[in-house]
Amino acid sequence: SYRKGGYHAVRVGDAFAGGRYIAQRKLGWGYFSTVWLAYDTLSARFVALKIQKSAKEYSHAALHEIGLLSAIAEGDPSNSNCVVRLLDYFKHSGPNGQHYCIVLEFLGDSLLRLIRYNHNKGIGLDRVKNICRSILVALDSLHRKLGIIHSDLKPENVLLVSTINPEKDPVKSNFIPILERPEGNLNGGFPFTVNEKKLMIKTRRALVKISKRRVSMGGYVEFERSLDGIDLRCKVVDFGNACWFDKQFADEIQTRQYRAPEVIIGSGYSFSVDMWSFACIAFELATGDLLFAPKNRPGLTEDEDHLALMMELLGKMPRNIATTGSRSNDFFDKYGDLKRIRRLKSWALDRLLVEKYNFSEADARSFTEFLRPLLDFDPEKRPTAAQCLQNPWLQEPKEADA
Ligand code: ADP
Ligand code: MG
Repeated sequence: SYRKGGYHAVRVGDAFAGGRYIAQRKLGWGYFSTVWLAYDTLSARFVALKIQKSAKEYSHAALHEIGLLSAIAEGDPSNSNCVVRLLDYFKHSGPNGQHYCIVLEFLGDSLLRLIRYNHNKGIGLDRVKNICRSILVALDSLHRKLGIIHSDLKPENVLLVSTINPEKDPVKSNFIPILERPEGNLNGGFPFTVNEKKLMIKTRRALVKISKRRVSMGGYVEFERSLDGIDLRCKVVDFGNACWFDKQFADEIQTRQYRAPEVIIGSGYSFSVDMWSFACIAFELATGDLLFAPKNRPGLTEDEDHLALMMELLGKMPRNIATTGSRSNDFFDKYGDLKRIRRLKSWALDRLLVEKYNFSEADARSFTEFLRPLLDFDPEKRPTAAQCLQNPWLQEPKEADA
């Protein structure tokens, strides 16, 4: 993808926006962009630089994302809504074309990394609750205040936030990535060369005083911590697929495993698609497993498998819902039964939590009471983010477990 119209190849030390931003290391990438840690020489802090592919459609998408992020920033002057903050944007020309660059506040690792870090065993219910609260605060402001549907909520798109108080420790609070990474390769996919490391260290020396031990960890200033006793907070990122509630442009939205049933059957969607994805994320954080992991099976589409998995866990989809989507005929007969999958194994969510994931009966019950309404086949019946925030399960972590 590093060709005309594609990604912009960045090297450590590259300058952007007339020398204001200096690339430090790659943080991640997506279908549309690569994201780099950069040092902002003007404000003397680290930022995330999202560099979009250059083809026209990607530039359109970047402008769309910038529009949404600007509205989000305007609606949240105190930056407390758990959504990533837009700081700046500009165009950068390179050998592959003109690339929109979006400058964002620098955040930590994604929830996907957090789940992997815990060896896919779940991160503990107290931490799940903390993270759920942050995501719900974000969804509440997006949905109710701004009228934005995120439409691609998933663990990769929720990033951890430093809980170090910048006033107490301005230097440390700049080094946000949270997780210890024993593997050493921190460059999101490709390792540094010796020269890159040297350059990085040199650049950084000029900026902040750093201990030798931290530099030796993969050539990257890592703030090493274990998860114990950390009050996890996070922010929602990636508005590349988000839309205004009243200006929807795509029928097929969301990443497969987090996709709501109404999107699959084509019956229109609203804010409640994000609530469905939110429930999938909460389950995944608590258990380390995807809630729904549909596959292509012989003679069946992934969509059919997905609907079958949903019905195994949640019961039959009400006939009036199953049969009224633009794609209903692909999957359901007129009684609302799946055409090609006749036998469904059913599992109740609370039994699944106890039997497969060793939850206590009490934990399984309270977590199910929280999750189950979010997974209503009827989008109108799903609780809103504001209603969810009132749920007793989220209030006092210890009490709910007692
Ligand atoms: P795409 O639209 O291409 O999927 P994203 O906005 O999701 O791009 O960014 C891709 C990846 O870059 C994320 O999954 C994350 O790992 C990293 N990333 C994005 N924004 C930030 C940020 N503000 N701070 C730190 N890392 C980020
Ligand atoms: Mg993304």
